[in-house]
Amino acid sequence: MPATIENETAPQTDYLKVLGARTHNLKNINVEIPRDQLVVITGRSGSGKSSLAFDTIYAEGQRQYIESLSIYSRQFFNQLPRADVDQIEGLQPTLCLDQKNQTSNRRSTVGTVSEVYDFLRVLMARVGEIHCYGCDQPIRQQTPQQIRDTILSLPERTKVMILAPMVAGKTGTHKEVLKKIRREGLVRVRLNGETHDIDQLPDLFEAKTYSIDAVTDRIIVREGIESRLLESIDNAVRLSGEGQVICSWLVPADDGEPANEWEEKLFSTRYACPDCGINYAEVQPRTFSFNSPFGACKPCGGIGRFLQFDPQWIVDRTKSIDDGAIVAWESFSKSAVKKNIQQLAANLESQGLSSSIPLDQLNDDQWGTFYNSREKGKLGLNVLLQKELATSTDEDRLDQLEQMQDEITCQDCNGARVSKTARSIFIDGKHIGEIVNFSIDDAAEFFSQLETKLEGDQSIIASPLINEISHRLGFLQKVGVGYLSLGRAADTLSGGEHQRVRLASSIGSGVTNVCFVLDEPSIGLHQRDNDRLIVAIRDLQQSGNSVIVVEHDEAMIRSADHVIDMGPGAGRHGGAVVAQGTAESITENPHSLTGKYLSGSIEVKTPTQRRAISDRVISVKGAAGHNLQSVHVDIPLGVLCCVTGVSGSGKSTLINHTVAPAIARQLELMVPSPQPHTSITGVEQIDKLIVVDQKPIGRTPRACPATYSGMFKEIRRLFTATKMAKQRGYGIGRFTFNSKSGWCPECQGHGVRRMAMNFMPDVFVICESCSGRRFNLQTLQVRFGELTISDVLELTVDQAIECFDGFSKIRVILQSLSDVGLGYLKLGQPSTTLSGGEAQRIKLATELAKTETGNTLYILDEPTTGLHFEDIRVLIDALNRLVDKGNSMIVIEHNLDVVRCADWVIDLGPEGGSGGGQLVGVGTPEDLSQIEGSHTGRYLKAAFAGI
Ligand code: ADP
Ligand code: ADP
Ligand code: ZN
Ligand code: ZN
Repeated sequence: MPATIENETAPQTDYLKVLGARTHNLKNINVEIPRDQLVVITGRSGSGKSSLAFDTIYAEGQRQYIESLSIYSRQFFNQLPRADVDQIEGLQPTLCLDQKNQTSNRRSTVGTVSEVYDFLRVLMARVGEIHCYGCDQPIRQQTPQQIRDTILSLPERTKVMILAPMVAGKTGTHKEVLKKIRREGLVRVRLNGETHDIDQLPDLFEAKTYSIDAVTDRIIVREGIESRLLESIDNAVRLSGEGQVICSWLVPADDGEPANEWEEKLFSTRYACPDCGINYAEVQPRTFSFNSPFGACKPCGGIGRFLQFDPQWIVDRTKSIDDGAIVAWESFSKSAVKKNIQQLAANLESQGLSSSIPLDQLNDDQWGTFYNSREKGKLGLNVLLQKELATSTDEDRLDQLEQMQDEITCQDCNGARVSKTARSIFIDGKHIGEIVNFSIDDAAEFFSQLETKLEGDQSIIASPLINEISHRLGFLQKVGVGYLSLGRAADTLSGGEHQRVRLASSIGSGVTNVCFVLDEPSIGLHQRDNDRLIVAIRDLQQSGNSVIVVEHDEAMIRSADHVIDMGPGAGRHGGAVVAQGTAESITENPHSLTGKYLSGSIEVKTPTQRRAISDRVISVKGAAGHNLQSVHVDIPLGVLCCVTGVSGSGKSTLINHTVAPAIARQLELMVPSPQPHTSITGVEQIDKLIVVDQKPIGRTPRACPATYSGMFKEIRRLFTATKMAKQRGYGIGRFTFNSKSGWCPECQGHGVRRMAMNFMPDVFVICESCSGRRFNLQTLQVRFGELTISDVLELTVDQAIECFDGFSKIRVILQSLSDVGLGYLKLGQPSTTLSGGEAQRIKLATELAKTETGNTLYILDEPTTGLHFEDIRVLIDALNRLVDKGNSMIVIEHNLDVVRCADWVIDLGPEGGSGGGQLVGVGTPEDLSQIEGSHTGRYLKAAFAGI
């Protein structure tokens, strides 16, 4: 952790001084940023906020960190892109909490990211109680001393027999065992419950079943037997080989009472069930680690879920394989299809079935074999596809195959990820899988109760651990993610949720003297939770850190100690500090656009008239996914409809995971199964569904705005039409870095080469051969006007508008990108470097540029992500244009400017998680502002009142 690095040479100033910053569009600026304060950098999208905060300050902090690391790392130092800045003074170790969910893999959970799980593992190991999963009895490890003490606590004169269990109900004559007992010098054995002198044993028969225990001592309870007893117990434990000992005893009867009976007990000195023989090898923290082979559930390998091909998308079961039942192979080559069909035919044949029978005639067993067989030469369909998925390099095919999969929960661990042993260990009646399934709010309650329930040693051991856990849970609640569970997979979190979890763990770790750089932490948060988040960020600062937040949120701007407003425009029209100081001083600054919005002299106008709601609706009944409590709701068509509610209230579950996939399926699109619901009707009224989400536009750096939006094809056509291209016979395939004829042979069109670094994320260095231009020299000799194809990809959208003004197909797309506030984006910017909000707006712009059907339903998820007030105004206009043409729009949104402009609002809640999932209110924004108990309504009311 960089927190340990002291920047000794830096002068101790109270300012972080950035001198001569020229990164991207920054105009050689000098900025003084107060240290140990809460600083907000704001400004329009593309004005240079990130260039200053991330690409200059954080990058330089990172570079200084790497420099301090090791000589090995330093050899790459010259090749690391250096922030274009003259000097930065007073830089602290810098940590960045951005939106990108890169660090999280399928193995991270909210619990691991927040480090709560680490403490929980130790707690479980120290004070958990084992209950045998075979017979449910509590398992306790007992030392020979403890066993001795149990015996000594029996009444005086009790007869005791100490035995070593040697054979438990096994057939045979057991000669070796008896020999061993003799060798020990023992003279008595118990055979099937009867005690015998070892030399007078009855004959044993090969085919009969026997239990044999060796008697290591017979003794009467009285003073002075302690050491002999212990020795006998030790002997038995050693002899049994399983760490077990049987004690059998007869308590003397009181005078006049009838005689007592012999009693006995099996003790184990190991964590093992004496009855089931199940061994609970010493419980350690790693027993609960699903990232270690000791702890992971075997079938799912600690992931808790599986990806499975969904038969519904890959076969048409009314057909036979001869008639093309398998639809999964659309994108496969003819020869590959032929080979696969041979396998399946062989599979059927081995079951005595013909390849010409429709697959719906197979019974369950036959289908099971057809689907899952792993036998050589007769691989099942699912196995064939899994293989293809693991080995194919064809991007389109991979995309398609991935879409055909559905995630299912591991049936062994039920999603708990840990082994059966780990699930047999309980605290207050709950195993670790159950505890991580609680919402964080409920978990906090559970642990505060636990504190009061534990006693004595347990309490002393557990207290500090429970403290750590409760502390961290408290921070998670503070940043507004109390509705999440600790077991929630990090890769299912939104970017904002992920960032807030990391924020909580930063606060929890107690680091000081660090400079944190945050990227729009308010994303995805309802106004209500936003207030709490600001308090949490304040905590981080007040525990002795500098906090720099790139943010558009008004409340955050107003609560900052210092605001830096970038601008005035975007791209080359920006890159300067327009105003800085307190929010109040910004408000009074006539040059600051942010200030004008803050003062209210410019605002997003609430429409005076709203579109009327007709009886054209999509009607949802009985939606019950995740926390939804059988929601019935009509979604009006032909209008701009917002879905609101606090985080975790169920907006995404209702819209993204129920309505969208259900509609898509009715439109025969291939999507994962919708969450449970009774019915969705009215879909016939639309003819197209477009979901504009924040998922990346491609999963490799090869995808970029130009390729995704479709304009790149048009641009390449222009290049093939040039004189030189014609002379040389260059076709359209030349002008792409995805083909051999176009790409730089050294980096194969990546522009960078990957360097593996020990203990560090890989570093990408610019390809020396093409200097990052990605194309080969021959291709770069062709120019359209002044520009090579590589130069074109370096243009920003706004620059490109000037270059391609006369080409309407290209122009339309560029204009559309600019309209949604992406004028600053480079055409060739790798998709992997785009924020979720940018990806969403690229998708939106691409759709806007298409001729729409006038009958399309658009679903958007927080399109205001990353947008300044001014950009939001532009975006709302763009959305309204689409609706004016007759299309329908569902927008999940917190931003009050957007909600105010909606025709209709569906508000979910009232709270998040189990306290939510209900319809709180439905109506116009004005209607909603009157609803008691709606958090959204309350904030809307204030917004209408101009507060
Ligand atoms: P903001 O954070 O205010 O939205 P950015 O700092 O991301 O703005 O962008 C400012 C300008 O720098 C834009 O014109 C953008 O196109 C440009 N830019 C951003 N990232 C890069 C990059 N990796 N390479 C070159 N230019 C970039
Ligand atoms: P919103 O979109 O309003 O923030 P969500 O629909 O994402 O709310 O979440 C509603 C509830 O469902 C929350 O309690 C959340 O933790 C839970 N939830 C959402 N997605 C998943 C998932 N993939 N697995 C398990 N629980 C989920
Ligand atoms: Zn048992
Ligand atoms: Zn499992």
